[in-house]
Formats: sequence, C-alpha cells, structure tokens
Amino acid sequence: MANWNRLYDELEQLKEEGRYRPLTVWESGAASTMTLGGRELIQLSSNNYLGLAGHPALREAAIAATEKYGVGSGSVRTIAGTLDIHVILEEELAAFKGTEAALVFQSGFTANQGVIASLVGAEDVVISDELNHASIIDGIRLTKAARKIYAHKDMEQLEQALKESAGYRNRYVITDGVFSMDGDIAPLPAIVELAEKYDAFVYVDDAHSSGVLGKNGKGTTDHFGLHGRVHIQIGTLSKAVGAVGGYVACDAVVKDYLIHKARPFLFSTSQTPAVAATALAAIGLLRESGTLIEMLWDNAAYFRGKVQALGFDTGASETPIIPVIVGSPSESMAFSDALLQEGVFAQGIVFPTVAYDKGRVRFIVTAQHTREQLDLVLGALERAGRKLGLLP
Ligand SMILES: *Cc1c(COP(=O)(O)O)cnc(C)c1O
Repeated sequence: MANWNRLYDELEQLKEEGRYRPLTVWESGAASTMTLGGRELIQLSSNNYLGLAGHPALREAAIAATEKYGVGSGSVRTIAGTLDIHVILEEELAAFKGTEAALVFQSGFTANQGVIASLVGAEDVVISDELNHASIIDGIRLTKAARKIYAHKDMEQLEQALKESAGYRNRYVITDGVFSMDGDIAPLPAIVELAEKYDAFVYVDDAHSSGVLGKNGKGTTDHFGLHGRVHIQIGTLSKAVGAVGGYVACDAVVKDYLIHKARPFLFSTSQTPAVAATALAAIGLLRESGTLIEMLWDNAAYFRGKVQALGFDTGASETPIIPVIVGSPSESMAFSDALLQEGVFAQGIVFPTVAYDKGRVRFIVTAQHTREQLDLVLGALERAGRKLGLLP
C-alpha cells in the first residue's frame, strides 16, 4: 500500500539524532536586527552582507519596475521572457566583472547546475575541492564526466589529479571563492598557475565573494588580480547583492553556448522585473562606492579580533564569515540556544555539514551592524561561553 511510513521513520531518526530542524519564521525583513516570536534579535546568520536587502534605492527600483512591467516576466528567456532590463543587467554585470559577457539565472544554485551540466561532457574531467557547495556537486552529478575530489585547498592533491588526467578532452578545476562554513578564501593564484601548467579551465563560484571580496566587491578573481586567467566566474545576486538570482561572467562564446544548452535557462521562467531591476540598482551602488564594503571588512576584523581575544577558536576564518568552533553537535546547538536567550541569533552548524567534532556557531558580520550591536553580541558570547564551560 502506498503510504509515507518511510518518511515518518526517517524524520523520527533525525529527531533522535538531534538533527530535526523546524523552520525559523521571521516577522520582519532581512536586517541587522530581526523580529522572531515578538522579540527583536541581533541577526548574525544572514548573507545580507551589505544590508542591501532593505536598501531604499533597491526598494524604489523594485516598485518602479513592477509598475512599468508588472510582477511576472511571463515566459522563459528563450521565448518571450527576455525584457530589456534583463539584458541591461547582463551588460552591467559583464562590465562590473570585466568579462566579455554575463548570463543571468534564477539563482546561484541553478547557475552552477546549468553551467556545469552544459559545459562539461562525458569526455571531460572535473577536479573539485571537497568543500565545494552543494550546487556544484549537483551540477557535477548531472554530467557523465569523470570526477576527482581534492582535499580542501590541497594544491599537491590538485596537481596530482591534473597529472593523472592528461587523457581527457577538457579538464575543469572548480572551487568556491570563499568557503561558506569556514570563511576561508580559495588559493586562487596557485590554482590558476597549476591550471595553466596542465592546460585546464578554472571555474570559481563567488557566491560569498560577490559584493564582498575584490575592488567594489568584484570577487575573488579581482581580489587576486587574476583577470583574464579565470574562465568561468559564477556570482549570486542573492547574498551581498540583496535580491535573488545567479549569473555567470564569461567569454561571449560561452554565453552564446549556454543560451542554447543550459537547461535552467531554457526551461524555467526568467527573473521577475522587480528582481532584475533590484539587482541592477545594487550593481550600480557597488560600482559607485566601496564604502559599504569597507564597513563590512572593518566590522569583520573588529569582531573576529575580539572573539579570538575572548579565547574562542575561529578556525580558518579570513572573511566576514566567522565560525566559533565548539565541538560536538549538542554542544554547538546548546551554545546557539544560549545566545538566543541573550537576544543573539547565530545558527549552529553541525555534522554532517561539518566534521562531527568541528560543530560550530557561525557568525556572519555585515556592514549594517553597529559597533554597539557587535559589542552586545561579544558580551553575550562571553556569558554564554562561560556558562557552558567553553572558555577558560
Ligand atoms: C549560496 C551559494 C550558492 C547558491 O546561491 P543562490 O543564489 O542562493 O542560489 C551557490 N554557491 C555557493 C558557494 C553558495 O554559497
């Protein structure tokens, strides 16, 4: 008989393991403080790095576009769903990234899925960092290509994989630019050098670096001065850029190919006019001024320094993603819960997302946080840390 017993059983199993998570439902929009159950909490788990999700200029752009075009685009891009603002957004993105072209997808997730699955074929090999994002992994799963995984940022293993893959048509080295669980940056200069030595393509996913790293937030390639040496740059419009969507910045021929082959592009409706206009306004703000990005990095350095001074382990963090490594899943969740009681929202992240004994509470500092808010959080961290015996 058809029933859902298996699902009940698996969910029960998750509950027993302490891995069952009801959704947290917020009563206000993304900002440095947000309302949960009638309480105002300091928010340190949002990817709204620059506070653009609530920016007045972006709200206005969304409203104006909605009034001009309506709420939906009505079609996929390849039929009747390419509006002039979609094209202008792509031109602006290419100019921003310094590439020949850019192509927008509905999300960063579908950008990775669509680009990897269409570029990479059965005759090719993908060489991927073990900590790459799920959307990269899913993109790779959709290909028939050979795959090699190297230990996180291990350049010896990467070189070994390149050496062993001489027989393939094309080799693609794929890496996140900034890794979301540890907040560390990919060693892109070393990756590019190895790729050049072995004649491989370099593919960087800048989801957490778009609007964060490089001049005016142009990403990891710009941060390391590697323009022209990275073949595929994925970006997202959903994190620092404040709206939703993903894009690939690439050569014109790659864009032309993807328009004909990338399945999420071909078979899913294009971005709503409000979203395209919002992203366009955000890219305009980024190009005009780097002030918000300076505030972001100042806040990140301040917070990381103070957290370390308290005696916490922030792991490999070198960006506004600042984990506090705690230990077991239950200790990590207890720490996150203790912070919640103090009015601070920072998500616990545990096995299997990270190693069993590397459970953590992950803080994402934004440009919008005031020093006063960060100091309140630091006070809460110290009290919760002492209460749980995490500090000397
Ligand atoms: C968040 C993220 C994505 C997905 O981006 P969305 O626009 O949210 O779909 C892809 N890659 C990485 C590395 C990410 O962190």
